[in-house]
Amino acid sequence: MPTDVYIAIGSNIGDSMTIVDSAINALGQMGGCELSGRSSLYRSEAVSDIEQDDYINAVAKIKTRLEPMALLLELQAIEHAFYRRREQEQRWAPRTLDLDIILFGNRHINDSHLTLPHPEFSTRLFVLEPMFEIDGDQFIPGYGSLRYLIDHANPIEMVKLDDYDG
Ligand code: AMP
Repeated sequence: MPTDVYIAIGSNIGDSMTIVDSAINALGQMGGCELSGRSSLYRSEAVSDIEQDDYINAVAKIKTRLEPMALLLELQAIEHAFYRRREQEQRWAPRTLDLDIILFGNRHINDSHLTLPHPEFSTRLFVLEPMFEIDGDQFIPGYGSLRYLIDHANPIEMVKLDDYDG
């Protein structure tokens, strides 16, 4: 049985709107995966001590037959294809493309490479709002409803860009 997975996408270097849209298309083309939903694009202020441009964010939902670690490696290959060079980066530095696995079915993992659910998703409005657009009535075991999480998330400046009408 394929597993439903939510992936958060962010970019704040280059033509970020095109990069995020292209990355979502790339997610649908990974072997053993199918794109089953996507949000609009959002513009959000960077949460960082380093002065940097706003981010373009979105969330995609896929169905996958991959195991979590295999999916993470696929995502890192896509980041790499968009010129992200992880080894040159500081944490919280600007980035061409960031792909995070938010939820992988009901899987809980906590090892040196992968934490699932993503450790910070439940307080990040730029993840929760796009998820709400895809699956508004969702209840996440151990966390609560998406609506509840949104109401209690860290407030940030964020605007929804034009609706995705695909
Ligand atoms: P970042 O620079 O914020 O994209 O963090 C990348 C690192 O976080 C990678 O080396 C991953 O091994 C690790 N990581 C842990 N949990 C996750 C997750 N749920 N999704 C993506 N990367 C993760």
